Amino acid sequence: MNPERPATLFPFSDRSRELQAQVAAFVADKIIPAESEFAAHDADPATRWTLVPRMQALKAEAKTAGLWNLFLPDARLGAGLSNLDYAPIAELTGRSLHAPEAFNCSAPDTGNMEVLAHFASPEQQAPWLPRLLAGEIRSAFAMTEPDVASSDATNIAMPIVREGDEFVINGRKWWTTGGGHPHCEILIVMGVTDPDAPAHRRQSMVLVPMATPGVRVVRPLTVFGYDDAPHGHVEMAFDNVRVPVANLLRERGSGFEIAQARLGPGRIHHCMRLIGLAQRALEMMVARAKSREAFGRPLGGHGMAQEAIALSRCEIEQARLLTLQAAAALDAHGNKGAKDLIGMIKIVAPRMACAVIDRAMQVHGGGGLSQDHFLAQAYAGARSLRLADGPDEVHIASLARSMLKA
Ligand SMILES: Cc1cc2nc3c(=O)[nH]c(=O)nc-3n(C[C@H](O)[C@H](O)[C@H](O)COP(=O)(O)OP(=O)(O)OC[C@H]3O[C@@H](n4cnc5c(N)ncnc54)[C@H](O)[C@@H]3O)c2cc1C
Repeated sequence: MNPERPATLFPFSDRSRELQAQVAAFVADKIIPAESEFAAHDADPATRWTLVPRMQALKAEAKTAGLWNLFLPDARLGAGLSNLDYAPIAELTGRSLHAPEAFNCSAPDTGNMEVLAHFASPEQQAPWLPRLLAGEIRSAFAMTEPDVASSDATNIAMPIVREGDEFVINGRKWWTTGGGHPHCEILIVMGVTDPDAPAHRRQSMVLVPMATPGVRVVRPLTVFGYDDAPHGHVEMAFDNVRVPVANLLRERGSGFEIAQARLGPGRIHHCMRLIGLAQRALEMMVARAKSREAFGRPLGGHGMAQEAIALSRCEIEQARLLTLQAAAALDAHGNKGAKDLIGMIKIVAPRMACAVIDRAMQVHGGGGLSQDHFLAQAYAGARSLRLADGPDEVHIASLARSMLKA
């Protein structure tokens, strides 16, 4: 975090400040030094889709230290922090692509745990929620389909047909993040149960255990060549998959509504982490500009590198303040009241992170694009977030509509 920020602008609780210090030390001392080990595990075809032993050890250590489920505002389930108090902590976890999982604060599990906590019955929660909260299993959220423009959730077409006491599911999903993880045991699947209902009441969500016959991972997808093993972003086939009707979340036709609710906190968490990702890229840019010389002076002595550094700092701080503003609004007014601010930061943060990381890669020269620095993979992650949780254009259109209507 920027030490120059006036303390009164966004006052964090003492507890948040203590956790910030602990998480900062954990990320710097334990997670970032383990990144080369994660990369080696991923690079070996024999191990790449298997559990990373070091991650299991880090999770155990973070849990013992009380750095666990910090994203959950409900104190009975998690840390009970406000969104504002969580924002600087999530920023710190964004500094490493591996950190969120170590603290049991990674997407899509965070959003899925919130859906289970808010929309599932106690019977539906029992097999999954406690084990997700304990970090013993992982989960995935299967909404996007290859054959329809899924940025418009009313297009989601996969049929979920009732036959007696069961739903029968047939179709394809893709970009199901986490579907490749060896511990992924439960899917939240969105599909059409009521094709004749009004557009926003056609879809429902059902719980589908990964082990159900007919559920199949077709292939991992890559983002600029990165497959993010072992959790991955996978294409999935559902061939005559049968689940009890008791697996329906809430009531029929509420899929759209649950999707909207799920994405409120989820979107802002992504943005908080992107600030941390960009901040680390900026720090790497500065270090490189000081340590490498070209044309008789350090890179940082050249005006263009100076511009890259200065503009990046301005843009990160702008996005950070907007994120905190959105987090404070979410605390004060809930999902609906904070909708515009959350939309604004979802438009701003991924673009900002892409711009900053792009500059950092440029200052690093060829190495910046290689696997030797974390910048290229960080760029792939930031670029994904101009699409995941809704493309920029959808958020821009929705923000503009909200203003035009006001
Ligand atoms: C790395 C990654 C992880 C993901 N994880 C998940 C996941 O876990 N679960 C899941 O269900 N999905 C996931 N997604 C999918 C993601 O949410 C979708 O890709 C996104 O919602 C867009 O849907 P689409 O790909 O079908 O694009 P389309 O809906 O076909 O849209 C294509 C383009 O059309 C344009 N467009 C759309 N609407 C408008 C508009 N109103 N005005 C102007 N232009 C518009 C935009 O440029 C948009 O990018 C992930 C995606 C990525 C890249």
